[in-house]
Amino acid sequence: MSFSSEAKREMCRTEEGKDCCRKAECYGIFLFARSFSLESVLLTTEHGATARRAAQLAAEVAGCVVNVSSAMRRSREGTMYTVSVDGGNERELLVNCFGYTGKEISLRVNLANLDSPCCTASFLRGAFLSCGTVTDPKKDYHLEFLVPHMNLAKDLLHVLNDLEGISVQAALVARKGAYVVYLKDSEQIADLLTYLGAPKSAMELMQVKMVKEVRNNINRKMNFESANIDKTASAAAKQIMAIRKIEEKMGLDSLPEDLREIAVLRIENPEMSLRELGGSLSAPISRSGVNHRLNRLLELAEDLL
Ligand SMILES: [Zn+2]
Repeated sequence: MSFSSEAKREMCRTEEGKDCCRKAECYGIFLFARSFSLESVLLTTEHGATARRAAQLAAEVAGCVVNVSSAMRRSREGTMYTVSVDGGNERELLVNCFGYTGKEISLRVNLANLDSPCCTASFLRGAFLSCGTVTDPKKDYHLEFLVPHMNLAKDLLHVLNDLEGISVQAALVARKGAYVVYLKDSEQIADLLTYLGAPKSAMELMQVKMVKEVRNNINRKMNFESANIDKTASAAAKQIMAIRKIEEKMGLDSLPEDLREIAVLRIENPEMSLRELGGSLSAPISRSGVNHRLNRLLELAEDLL
C-alpha cells in the first residue's frame, strides 16, 4: 500500500465525534470531488475506505442516497471507486445542505460551514481524502491537493495558510487544466498529516527524514576522509619519488642516519600517515618531526641533477 493510501486509511479511522465536524468533513469530501452541482455529484477515488466514508457521511449528514461502484482498472493500477448521487432531488438535498444552489458558476468555499474552529480540521481532512495525495518521503517531500477549479484552489490555499495552531505555507500552481495546492517542507507536511488525523504517517515521515540525514552526514564524512586519504597518498608518492632519486644518484647509505631510517620506512610503507611513520622509528618522533625530515629529503632530491 502506498504511503498516501496508508495516510488516508489512518484518516478514515478517525472517529468524528461532533455533528458539526461530521458535516464539515462531508462538505470537504464532496466540494473537492470531481463534480459538485445539481447536474452531477461525483467522486472518484482509488481508496475504498474513502468511498465508504463519503457515502456514509452523505447519508447521515444530508440524508441522501449515495451510489458506490467499483471497477478494476488495468493491472497494477488497482480498483477505482466511483461515488455518485444519482437522483436529481438527492443532489439538491446535498448541495442545499451546504448552502449551495448547485448552479454556481464559480465554486467557492462557503465559510459558513466552518463556523466552529473545531470543524476546519475535519473539512480539510475531507478535502484531502477527496483530492489529496502525499508522496512517499523516501522519494520526495510533497503533499498536494489537486483541485478542479481555480477559485476553489485559492480558497483552499487561504484556509490552509490561515490555520490556527499549525504553521503551513502552501503554494498554488496550475497543472494541465487543474490547480495544485501543495506543500514541500517536510516538517509542515508532518504537522499537517497529524492535524488531519494521520499522526502515524507523520511520524514515519520524520523517521525517514532522520535516516536520510544520518546517511548524508556519514556520506559527507566519508567524502571528507577519502579526500584526505587522496592527499596523503599523493604526498607519499612525491616523497617516494624523491627517495628513489636519492637512492639512484647517491645511495641511501650516504644519508645521515635520521634521514636514512625515515627514507627506508617511507618506501616500505607508502600508506602510513606521518604520525604512524614517526611512531615506527627506532626513536619515535612527532608528526612535525617526520614532516621536517621528509621535507629535507625532498629538498635534497631537488638539488640532485
Ligand atoms: Zn466541529
